[in-house]
This record gives sequence, structure tokens and C-alpha cells, in this order.
Amino acid sequence: RVNRGDFMNALEEVTPAFGVAKEELEQVVQNGIIHHGPVVDEILRSGELFVDQVRTSTRTPLVSVLLHGPPGSGKTALAATIAQASQFPFMKLLTPDSMVGFSEAQKVATIAKVFQDSYKSPLSVIVVDNLERLLDFTPIGPRFSNSVLQTLMVLLARRPPKGRRLLILATSSLRPVLTDLGLSETFDAELRVPPITSLRALGTVLKEVALFPSDEERRHAISMLAQAGFGDTEDEETSRLNVGIKKLLSMIEMARQEPEATAERLTNALMGLGM
Ligand code: ATP
Ligand code: MG
Repeated sequence: RVNRGDFMNALEEVTPAFGVAKEELEQVVQNGIIHHGPVVDEILRSGELFVDQVRTSTRTPLVSVLLHGPPGSGKTALAATIAQASQFPFMKLLTPDSMVGFSEAQKVATIAKVFQDSYKSPLSVIVVDNLERLLDFTPIGPRFSNSVLQTLMVLLARRPPKGRRLLILATSSLRPVLTDLGLSETFDAELRVPPITSLRALGTVLKEVALFPSDEERRHAISMLAQAGFGDTEDEETSRLNVGIKKLLSMIEMARQEPEATAERLTNALMGLGM
């Protein structure tokens, strides 16, 4: 028999998790989203469409999307932004960062619990962050946790119970590995998150974070970079400039520490000469 106490417990079981999950999502977008190129809006727009699809389509109670791209390109922040914007009653970030020191069994249990909890909500979004780290993947061997892999394979493909809808946003820097592991086929769609490869995009970031006190100084820095061979090309393959937004933002903060030689510092960092 279900009594009032059970009912209250059930409510409590679901609600307190929300606040925490929300903070987790906010935390990974700490530095905001800089619209450094059309691709950023395209990714966010696609994300919005997947959110709408889950919300409105009765035919697709489960939609899973893989955001992939080189390290530091902004995958986690974008996935979290899309998740947050959904305002679904259940939003959760599943990240290896919160499972440091967990045994395989503990990881499996944690992952399964998050999915179980999501099935209690009519609309849910789960960000499964950094799949390869969640899987303890190491290229040497190669090795990975088979039990975590099996768990993810099942949960990524399992339809939520009747009347429940779930959006899964996963991130990875090692897309080819996911294919080898047979995990990429489980996704309904993929969004590629590219690095920054054009001086124009770089200029937008520099402006946004106000690294230089004036437009003139910023332009001077950009022309310095152009002279250093970071010619303007949108082509990711041939561009000498190739940096993830995460790395770029930290290079910028380091360069900021030296007001006398900010442009030089940044150029050196981007040339891989270190600081
Ligand atoms: P990793 O490969 O290490 O997992 P990542 O690709 O997940 O890295 P994030 O952890 O999302 O990268 O780091 C991106 C950082 O850059 C965040 O702090 C975010 O706030 C900031 N940022 C600024 N502009 C953007 C943008 N357009 N897209 C994504 N992140 C952005
Ligand atoms: Mg990440």
C-alpha cells in the first residue's frame, strides 16, 4: 500500500536533485558562450530543434545526440547550454569529474541511477559528458571498462517508459574510438564542434573578452598574428591556427597578466612556444 509518506518521499527523491543538477550545468558554462562564428549558433539552434523534437513528437520519446570535436573545442559547455535552455523538469550532468576514484561497479550504478531517475520525469535531458573518460579509455592496449560500455549501450538505446521523454546529449573528443566500440551507431544525430581556425573568429573572441584596451591594439595584435603566418582561412585542415576555445581562453588570461607584451605573449602561446 502506498501512503502519504511514500508520496512525499517520492517527491523529495526527485526535487532536490534538480537544484544541484542545475548548478552543475551552470558551472561548466562558467565562461559563457562566445559567438565566435556561425557554427556556434548553428550548433545551439540544432540543439534547440532536438529539444523541441523530444518535447513535441510522440514518435520519438528518445533522442540521442553526440557532440564531438577536438579537445577543448567547447563540447561540454555547448551541451550544457542546450540542456539548460530546455528547462525540462529533469536535467542532469553525468560527468567523469564527479566519479573520480569510483570503481567500475560504482560508475555503472551511478549511471544507471541517473537514467532511472530521469524515467520518473515526463521530460528529461541528460548530458553524458566525456564518453571516453567515462569508459576509462586508454589508447595503450587499448583498454576500457567493458561494464560501463555495456551499461551505456543499453541505456543510450532504451526507450523511456510510456509517457516519458528523454534527450541525451553526449560529448566526446575521440569519435573514431566510439565507432570502434560500436557506440556511435546508437546516436540519432551528431554535431561537430570545431576548433577556432580563422583570425576572424579569434578577433571576435579577443574583442569579447576585452583583452586589449582599444580596437586599434586588438587589430595590431591580429596583424601580428597574420605576419606570424596565421593567415586567414576558414579551412580547418590548412589553417595554422587551430585552437580550442577552452585553451584559447586560458592563453588569453595568461597573456593578460603581461600588459606590456600582451600581443607577443598570445602569439607565442598560439605558436606553441609556450609562455
Ligand atoms: P574537453 O575536450 O577538455 O572536454 P570541451 O570541448 O568540453 O573540453 P569545455 O569544457 O566546454 O570544452 O570548455 C569550453 C570553455 O569555453 C567553457 O569555459 C565555456 O564557457 C567557454 N566558451 C566560450 N565560448 C564558447 C563557445 N562558443 N562554445 C563553447 N564554449 C565556449
Ligand atoms: Mg568536455
